[in-house]
Amino acid sequence: MNATEYEPVIGLEIHVQLKTRTKMFCGCELSFGEEPNVHTCPVCLGLPGTLPVLNARAVHFGLMIGLALGCEIAGRSQFHRKNYFYPDLPKGYQISQYDVPLCTGGHLGDVRIHRVHLEEDAAKLVHASASGRIHGAERSAVDFNRGGTPLVEIVTEPDVHSAEEARDWLGLLRSTLRVLGVSDVNMDEGSLRCDANVSVRPAGSSGLGTKTELKNMNSFRFLAQGINAEVERQVGLLRAGEQVVQETLHFDPRSGLLTALRSKEEAHDYRYFPEPDLVPLVATPEMVEAARAALPELPAARAQRFERELGLPADRAHELAFRTELADYFEQALAADGSDLDPIALANWIPPLIERIGSDTDPAQSLVSPASLAGLVKLVSARQVSTTAARDVLTRLVAEGGDPAAIVEQEGLGAISDADGGLAEIVAAALAADPDAADKVRAGNMKAIGPLVGYVMRETKGRADGGEVTRLIREQLGLG
Ligand SMILES: [Zn+2]
Repeated sequence: MNATEYEPVIGLEIHVQLKTRTKMFCGCELSFGEEPNVHTCPVCLGLPGTLPVLNARAVHFGLMIGLALGCEIAGRSQFHRKNYFYPDLPKGYQISQYDVPLCTGGHLGDVRIHRVHLEEDAAKLVHASASGRIHGAERSAVDFNRGGTPLVEIVTEPDVHSAEEARDWLGLLRSTLRVLGVSDVNMDEGSLRCDANVSVRPAGSSGLGTKTELKNMNSFRFLAQGINAEVERQVGLLRAGEQVVQETLHFDPRSGLLTALRSKEEAHDYRYFPEPDLVPLVATPEMVEAARAALPELPAARAQRFERELGLPADRAHELAFRTELADYFEQALAADGSDLDPIALANWIPPLIERIGSDTDPAQSLVSPASLAGLVKLVSARQVSTTAARDVLTRLVAEGGDPAAIVEQEGLGAISDADGGLAEIVAAALAADPDAADKVRAGNMKAIGPLVGYVMRETKGRADGGEVTRLIREQLGLG
């Protein structure tokens, strides 16, 4: 029996396609779903005798990312040739950065950043359908539109310890990059791609086990599923007394299976050497300052502001700020009518909204305007509508839009209070219907109040104000 518990150790490598107008080393425009091979030139086709010219905008974006992640910026960094053969790489090498990257160190949330560097994307192999077969064999073609697209590669330290943490952190990174405006960060379209280096070690130990690399997981869900599958596989091997082999793996989300792509190459396999056609990249103080000046408020800072200035609990502040569209919606609602809306009360209504519109939907695209959500929260805060009834109103707003006050009016959902005369009678009926519970509450057992409140809520279809019901029960039982 081997009862050793294992802890996953995960590092992430993220490739980000930059949203520049032109490619990394030539004047070709970036391509989005156009006809194949319409954005090419001798440079990005790798023809002999051509020379690369570095894209200044890509450097600016790289500096912005480095500063946003708190990295140290290298005053002088170097491009290298990373040599390997693949049909989508006509030069036979990729221009990347090796021992002197643009940015090093830094962190995002609790995860330390190892390095951030600039490089170019490869072209794309397109595997033709059956109709494209030649001599019965499947045919592949190369689309060079993507070849030479500017990329930033972000490498973390192995600070992540579960699939869920990896997914959440990647979400924070995506929000950060989106706010920076440097990329579309769309995993479906490949403008954000994530590899994970996964190893396991006995829990509590500080050494590192042999790692494997999971390539190109193209959704947050697959990333989490792939990591979980790989952790399970490695733990299974170790428990069986076998070894983990260092290799590169592909995770198939449909079958849940991991297959080996190749044994993991080492840096020396690429025969890196300095790119002789590019001078070293010197990031001047002016360039760094321009990048710093272009930084907007970042999600992590926004979460801190929500905590500090609005008093939101940390979890809620993160939940909102780490999804820019939620934070924007929340702030618009808060500012909707300049009222003294309680930020915490408003923030507590965002999750029920998300639950109703679907977790992937931007609330700005829903029929519930920020002003109408603010209006609903105001009605609840003013005790004009109970929380239960307000949830029904929210469901109506999601389905049809409209004005919450008007829906409350039309549907007769307004809160019933003692002032209306009806509530005290219903409370009296509840006490009469359940004398046992009434006796217990009278004797000081407040837990017994549940069925009595439940009776009132059923009778009023959730329109009674909970606080008012409790007050009336106590009053009628002589508890003051
Ligand atoms: Zn080109």
